[in-house]
Amino acid sequence: MSTEPLLRCRCLLHTASWLVPAPERANWLAARLSILRNWTILIDRGEITLRAEPDIIRYCWRSFADAVHLWFNPAQFHNLLRRPSLVPLLGALLIAVSAFLSGGFRATHAFFHNIVTQPSSDSVVPYCILFTFSLLIAAFTIAQRRRALHWHSWSYSAFFAAKLAAVLSFVPAGWLEFHALILAHRPHAELPFILSALSSVVIYIVGLTSALRWCYIDQSLRCPVCLKLLNLPVAIGSWSSVFDPANTELVCDDGHGSLLIPEADPGADERWTTLDPSWRDVLEPAKSA
Ligand SMILES: [Zn+2]
Repeated sequence: MSTEPLLRCRCLLHTASWLVPAPERANWLAARLSILRNWTILIDRGEITLRAEPDIIRYCWRSFADAVHLWFNPAQFHNLLRRPSLVPLLGALLIAVSAFLSGGFRATHAFFHNIVTQPSSDSVVPYCILFTFSLLIAAFTIAQRRRALHWHSWSYSAFFAAKLAAVLSFVPAGWLEFHALILAHRPHAELPFILSALSSVVIYIVGLTSALRWCYIDQSLRCPVCLKLLNLPVAIGSWSSVFDPANTELVCDDGHGSLLIPEADPGADERWTTLDPSWRDVLEPAKSA
């Protein structure tokens, strides 16, 4: 095989390799370069003709599609969903769509402008009562779950604080926009007004409580080192056994540690165990399975 097509093929493979997910990139490129090397040896020996060259170049171009396809295999997709970066990305997307649909959060601006200019306004006190009542319900439902948070690093605390701040800002703002929409389109009859006001209150309480519960449960199921959602749940023990009660064990597939969740005794504490670095090699095949 002449030098120019060979060089072009190598360039194509190296470029395509940047589209491959990082953990698989080195092996993927090594395998393709090895196939290319075998082909050139066969051509040089005369075992296949030079007419195979276009096929080899086509194979290298097809590597781009193969590299992109790797992102869509189920294991890779599942891995992507557990990354912490997905949370701010989806949050930013949700805020951008809401801002677009609400004309830049017009009702929220008007509400806070009203608070600043008329602190004794009729709408401020009921809203503060509703907000406090929702926080109390959220705190009560979270306390029922008895999930432990694992404060091992500043990034873990910062991630939780950022989620809470985003939820406590976005949900009330989203509700104000929704409430303004309902008020703008409600019929003038009294009964539909009461129904619409009641449904708005219920939506506010359920929405804020659910969002805060999600913050807490999502955080309790994340690795305190890399912030990825824990994976590979394994049921241990038996519901009928006193000495070996039912537990669920989750593990960080980067090998940072494991979390034991007591299922049979909801009052018992969850236990985080830091794993030895040698576990990373053991868990590597499970990550891509
Ligand atoms: Zn981890």
